Amino acid sequence: MQELTHWIGGQHVKGTSGRFADVMNPATGEVQARVPLATKAELDAAVAAAAVAQEGWAATNPQRRARVMMAFGALINKHMDELAELVSREHGKTLPDGRGDVQRGLEVIEVCMGAPHMLKGEYTNDGGPGIDLYSMRQPLGVVAGITPFNFPAMIPLWKMGPALASGNAMILKPSERCPSTSLRLAELLQEAGLPDGVLQVINGDKEAVDAILDNDTVQAVGFVGSTPIAQYIYGRAATNGKRAQCFGGAKNHMVIMPDADLDKAADALVGAGFGAAGERCMAISVAVPVGEKTADALIERLVPRIEKLKVGPYTAGDDIDFGPVITAAAKARIDGLVEAGVTQGAKLVVDGRGFSLQGYENGFFVGASLFDNVTPEMDIYREEIFGPVLSQVRAKTYDDALKLVKDNPYGNGTAIFTADGDTARDFANKVNVGMVGINFPIPVPLSYHSFGGWKKSAFGDLNQYGPDAFKFYTRTKTVTQRWFSGIKEGGEFHFKQMD
Ligand code: NAD
Repeated sequence: MQELTHWIGGQHVKGTSGRFADVMNPATGEVQARVPLATKAELDAAVAAAAVAQEGWAATNPQRRARVMMAFGALINKHMDELAELVSREHGKTLPDGRGDVQRGLEVIEVCMGAPHMLKGEYTNDGGPGIDLYSMRQPLGVVAGITPFNFPAMIPLWKMGPALASGNAMILKPSERCPSTSLRLAELLQEAGLPDGVLQVINGDKEAVDAILDNDTVQAVGFVGSTPIAQYIYGRAATNGKRAQCFGGAKNHMVIMPDADLDKAADALVGAGFGAAGERCMAISVAVPVGEKTADALIERLVPRIEKLKVGPYTAGDDIDFGPVITAAAKARIDGLVEAGVTQGAKLVVDGRGFSLQGYENGFFVGASLFDNVTPEMDIYREEIFGPVLSQVRAKTYDDALKLVKDNPYGNGTAIFTADGDTARDFANKVNVGMVGINFPIPVPLSYHSFGGWKKSAFGDLNQYGPDAFKFYTRTKTVTQRWFSGIKEGGEFHFKQMD
């Protein structure tokens, strides 16, 4: 049995708490490793060491810090397949999806290679007689990233890139279900030139998280996970005077207008609904066709596509469509919600329950399910299922569809499929959701924009990555200066080297 570690002071460090969590192989249902769960004392010691390391890192000029990001990006590329395999081994997603997980994180590191540009301040010359004003962006000190299981590479990279490039030290607390990718990324960052202690990976559960939230040295917390935990962390961090941005769960709707290309819409729905077994915060879990004819025609197209989906372990090859869900408990919860959908009167058009894969009978595989005639009161509509279950809610008109999306408490992503630019424009303007796709089912913005939901999908006011992340991980200091005299002779005749 492999025993995982923390990463502290640039080396693997064994846990001392005596508490461990099992890291499962979701395809076989077997325990493949155990990960130590840190105590408050372990966390506090790691923070104290990070605070010392941060001083030298903050004093390293931004261009040199960016060079570490350049080397890190090159190493991620070099180790792409190995990292993707690590992701898939603990998460269960297919290898192409594992590569996507690494790739979308790498893209944020690529933006961090230009961090000095993001960190430039502002300047006003002659704001008053002989008076200039300038503002600078300074790192916060020690910050924390707390990440979910479903993107073991991408989300830790979203957190560490901007935080480290801005001159902070980071305590990263990855999901205890998929910790190995973060540990490997820490090794690669060391190889890229990051000084020891600037990134500490602390494995743990609620005890470690609460220790982060209560540690006075930690200045900011970037969290991604489920909504109840996001809200809890936001509240406790704020009470303790920390900056916090906490991204939560989702229930993403796709509106399909009568003029949409229904084959393309069905293809998009199947990929966005069932990819990664529905374990994406940007998965589409609700299809909202407008008009009965559209709804019937969509079901007709969805059924054969869903019945063709290949479910299997990542080791079975690149033509697998999706793998197992993360735990036995997740599988039982999804099965229970499908059952509730039937009991509460939704029409189960494709039934994924009872799915079993020969040779992997103990794996956490769930077949794809499709519901029609779902209504907003049903549990399958109200809950974030986070599994391969797509619900169709029929809307009479475009206004009804828009209202449904607007009334939903979550606001992470949404999409509309239509051939009409005016409808698409109206939808994009009026919908109260953070990320909108037009004929595009999973509108995760590119790394030089930024990612963030609205309503109960995010707590805090700045988005992840892009320019917002550099604002989140730095604070502004503004200087008003006046000089009364100066020496006006003498000169320098050579270029000064800044580094
Ligand atoms: P989770 O909330 O269970 O766990 C997230 C993190 O919080 C983990 O590191 C975990 O150890 C920690 N945690 C769990 N329970 C805690 C508690 N009681 N107190 C303190 N810390 C606790 O989420 P998950 O199951 O790992 O991830 C899936 C969820 O994340 C889904 O709801 C999904 O929509 C959401 N998600 C959101 C985004 C986004 O950007 N909005 C992205 C990915 C995933």
